[in-house]
Amino acid sequence: MTKREKSRTLHIIISVDVENDVYYYQNKKTPEVRDIDGWLGLRKGIPKLLKIFEKVADSSGRNPKITWFIRVDFQLEKLYGDAGHILISYKNLWKKLSLKGHEIAFHPHLYRRVGKYWTLETRPEYLTRQLRESFHRMIDLGFIPQSSRIGEAFMSNEVMKCLAELGLKIDSTAIPHRFRRDKLKMIDWRGTPQTPYYPAPTNYRIFDEKRSIGILEVPMTTVRTRVSYDSKPRWRYVNLSYYNHVLATGLREHIRKYDVLVTVVHPFEVLPEMGKTWHPLISFDEKEVEKNLRFIISECKNVGKKSKFIRLKDVKKCILRDIK
Ligand SMILES: [Zn+2]
Repeated sequence: MTKREKSRTLHIIISVDVENDVYYYQNKKTPEVRDIDGWLGLRKGIPKLLKIFEKVADSSGRNPKITWFIRVDFQLEKLYGDAGHILISYKNLWKKLSLKGHEIAFHPHLYRRVGKYWTLETRPEYLTRQLRESFHRMIDLGFIPQSSRIGEAFMSNEVMKCLAELGLKIDSTAIPHRFRRDKLKMIDWRGTPQTPYYPAPTNYRIFDEKRSIGILEVPMTTVRTRVSYDSKPRWRYVNLSYYNHVLATGLREHIRKYDVLVTVVHPFEVLPEMGKTWHPLISFDEKEVEKNLRFIISECKNVGKKSKFIRLKDVKKCILRDIK
């Protein structure tokens, strides 16, 4: 290993998508319903996660400051009377976390109601209207987000442009390699790099040398995985609730190759009561979150890299020199 490689640092961003529970894993519902099933993740999952985060430290001995992506959107407005329902219901928690230096970020799920189902909104004019209204509601409530992530990894050129126009500096919706286009999902991140890039105005998935939109895309890290029901290896985002043995090989590779790692987790994914039966991928156990974090830190050590927890909004400051 050369001297330069030894001095490198892995910047670790821990993001939590703060949203409702999904009963799909209890086999009670099919995913296309998109109802709001409950909020146990917020009440019980977040305190569990906070305890774990206080137990881990990077190579400088610092605990992580988390990037909390909070749902603020049209569906919440329709069902609860306010797009900022989560911001309002847990106001003191967000205040406390902000004061401690955590980042509060914008996470709209863009849906519309069709018959008895909530379905993805894909009409450009409605997408931008929903984005603007939800974003301004967040501002009205006293939050000025710098980072965004669109629900279910949906993206379009119009949406990316709109986020930049709203003043967001960083987006973290990308799931490199993932592609799915059917009745249920609209995900297209083919050709997207693992490293931060400025999206092109005519193709949000790739790098724009001119940086003409101005927003920086910081993809969620994906690693190659394989679980019992996969017929071949599959790229999955680094969800901290996934079993460490599923992520380990891919994580090792990523840590050797790159200087940024973006992880994700949803609060309900650490609650045992959310998984009715054993699941080969999601542990529903906060201990696995701790195991994954400790694994990442110790892998850095093994390859002579420093580890550093940062918030998404720190990416430009911390690693801008490395961005193409
Ligand atoms: Zn979400």
